This record gives sequence, C-alpha cells and structure tokens, in this order.
Amino acid sequence: MTKFLDLGTINLRQRQAFHDALDRVLDSGWYVLGQEVESFEREFAALCGARHCVGVGNGLDALILVLRAWGIGPGDEVIVPANTYIATWLAVTHTGATPVPVEPTAGGYNLDPALLRPAITARTRAILPVHLYGEPADMDPIMAIAKAHGLKVLEDAAQAHGARRQGRRVGTLGDAAGFSFYPGKNLGALGDGGAVTTDDDALADRLRTLRNYGSRLKYHNEVAGFNSRLDELQAAFLRAKLPLLDGDNAHRREIAGCYLDGLRGLPGLELPAAAAGTEPVWHLFVVRHARRDALAARLAAAGIGTMIHYPVAPHLQPAYAHLGLAAGRFPRSEALHAQVLSLPIGPTQDLAQTREVIAVLRRACTELDAAA
Ligand SMILES: *Cc1c(COP(=O)(O)O)cnc(C)c1O
Repeated sequence: MTKFLDLGTINLRQRQAFHDALDRVLDSGWYVLGQEVESFEREFAALCGARHCVGVGNGLDALILVLRAWGIGPGDEVIVPANTYIATWLAVTHTGATPVPVEPTAGGYNLDPALLRPAITARTRAILPVHLYGEPADMDPIMAIAKAHGLKVLEDAAQAHGARRQGRRVGTLGDAAGFSFYPGKNLGALGDGGAVTTDDDALADRLRTLRNYGSRLKYHNEVAGFNSRLDELQAAFLRAKLPLLDGDNAHRREIAGCYLDGLRGLPGLELPAAAAGTEPVWHLFVVRHARRDALAARLAAAGIGTMIHYPVAPHLQPAYAHLGLAAGRFPRSEALHAQVLSLPIGPTQDLAQTREVIAVLRRACTELDAAA
C-alpha cells in the first residue's frame, strides 16, 4: 500500500511543534498580522534569499495581488503557460486582464521561451512563468525577453518552494513570486496560506497595504484593498515546518533519482527530465504514457495511489469557454493532459515503497506493450 501523498503522517512528525505553536498564539492573544507572521516572513525571505516576503491568504491571492499592485487590469495581456494549474490563469482573469497562453517545450512541461516573442503584443504587460511540478522554468531567456520588451515577470512558485536554478532559489528569479502553502505543497500549512517574495521595496510596501483593506493605519484606506492575510496560527505552524523543507526536498530528490534509474527504458513510458543547472524539488513526479488510464488502474489494483495533474487543460475548461480557445489550439498541452500520470512521492515515502512502485510499473508497462 502506497498512498499518493501521506499528509497525515507528514504532519504528525511535527505534532509537538504544532502544539507549541498553538500555545504561543493563544498566549499572545493576537491572531491576525502579529509576531508570528512577521517572523515567518523574515524566515521565509531568508530561505529564498529575497529582500521581502509578504504573507497573504493563499497562493491565488499572492498572484492576483502582485498583478493588481502593478496596475494590471482590463485591456492588458499577461502571458501564461498553456500547461499549468488553472490558478495561474485565474490570477490574470480576476484582474480583468486577458491570459495569453504559450505552449511548453517539446518533451517538457514548462513554458517554451522560444515561443514567447510571437505572443507579445502592444498590450502585453507581464509574463507569468510557472515552476511546474517543482522544476524551475527556463528563466534566463524569459528575463531577457521581458527586459527587451519592458515587461514584468511574476514567478508562480506555488509548486517549487526551495528549488534552485544556477544556485539561486526560485522566488528571486523574476520581479516577484507567488507561493502557496496549501497543505499538499512542499511547504504546506494546516489550512490555506500564501506569500509573495520580491526584492522590490515599493512593491512589498504596496502589497502590505493591499492585503489589509488598502490600509496602513487602521480605518484609513489609501486604496480599495482586499482582506487576504496569512493568519497568525498558520504562520506559527509554517514556522514549525520550515526547518524541515530542505531535508524533505532532498528526500524527494532521492525518490525521484530512484524512479529515474528504475524506470529507464520501459516501453511506452516517458520520464521527466530536469534541465542542466536546475535543482528541482519534485513536488510531483510526472510520467507520460499513451495508455495512462490503464496504467493507473494497474497501479491502483496493487494498492498504489496516483493522480493526474491535470486532466483538462485550462483553455478547455468550461470556465474559459468565453475565451474561444478551441480544442487543437495548444496541441502540446493537450497531449500532456491526455498522457500525464503523477506517481507517489513525498517526504515520508521510504525507498522500499518506491521500489515496490517501480516493480509494479515495470510489470504494467511490459504487459501493456505486449498487449498492444
Ligand atoms: C496550488 C497552486 C496555486 C494556488 O495556490 P492556492 O494556495 O491553492 O490558492 C497556484 N499555482 C499553482 C501552479 C499551484 O499549484
């Protein structure tokens, strides 16, 4: 039996630290925007190597607030990956701006920088690359193109806490980055949470106002802001988990290495490839197979949990029917959504479980190949 992600066991490792965190918050008598949020912001900024961290309500809000702080809205265009979780697109459409999708690299999952230039118009204001599945996007060409066209770059780092590219952590590679602390993420709270990291003093200042009703001084509102604050209790819980992040990510890399070795050369199975110079954090380990559903069924029959990230491309979701982006428009993304399968991976999954997944998968791929 191997769960896709054993969140219960993951969090029980910190049971005492969570109780201590709850006690600190209760003893303080302060629940919103206090010492715990301030301390977590300092600690998470230090981990990323960013000047500022601003805690917000969730990952989606982190992205929305940055776009709003940059004044992006109706009439503007923001370039997004065609292959991503829908939250990346929602961040753009909730500002009133239009998402302009760009396909992933051939054989990869992240945005293809070679396809960026043709997507840029006079209305383009920003690029929103995603470090999908924990693999840093190809940021050097993205930043160069953004600079040449005067565009902002917002990293969607919701799946990549701690990942590095050329030694630098995600969250410091663009003009700003949005993180999610949803329970299942590599750094997950016991509820919702999110944050923005940036080196931009003015942006950080604007975000601190925007997240809190547009107010710097209680009951004095400079702008029409939001209520989107990381709360004290979740910040205290996150402080209990932050010291485990790098170790947990190293463990995920060990599992990924095991999968890459054990699954190489299987008929019909495509493995993820990390680009040179990147240190991915393997939020997900995603393989591709033309008979994905049959493969998932065989794993399930052996007690092995898998998931599909994601079954439907954002442009084909009913929510975006009004954008008029027909099926066939983004063939690379559409092929991925039909073929991807996420294998179990997580900080408490041991190597024996991982070897068991490999053995079942080897058998299944060989059988499916023989039946073809
Ligand atoms: C989880 C996620 C988000 C949104 O985070 P929430 O905290 O759930 O709002 C945004 N983008 C990506 C790529 C994500 O995986």
